[in-house]
Amino acid sequence: MKDCVFCKIISGEISSKFEYEDENMIIIKDINPQATIHLLLIPKKHFSNLMDITEEQTEILAQCLKKLSHIYLDLGLDRGFRIVCNSGLDACQSVYHLHIHILGGELLSDKMA
Ligand code: AMP
Ligand code: ZN
Repeated sequence: MKDCVFCKIISGEISSKFEYEDENMIIIKDINPQATIHLLLIPKKHFSNLMDITEEQTEILAQCLKKLSHIYLDLGLDRGFRIVCNSGLDACQSVYHLHIHILGGELLSDKMA
């Protein structure tokens, strides 16, 4: 997708270190971390958010989350983690290429926001 920062990272047009990559997704460090560990799980296929998701995209996302259950230790998240997926205006989504925030590496607030 033209003018999508995450598509540019995935294609290599914008250089970024991948913490993990497979056929479905990349995981990178968030440029503006909100926790000791703040990663972004980004599906390689461009889709906007959870408000606009097809059956095929739902299946891709499920595979990404399943994979996370296999790799979270390698990401330094042995004590647990929180995932967040901002979708739409009220959630203040700023990049309209679906991504899952993965937060951890410290004891997070017991409040969600
Ligand atoms: P959201 O507000 O949920 O759409 O989150 C977008 C996230 O992408 C923010 O936390 C940004 O800090 C992050 N971000 C934007 N551009 C980059 C980039 N080039 N590399 C890493 N993270 C980025
Ligand atoms: Zn994109």
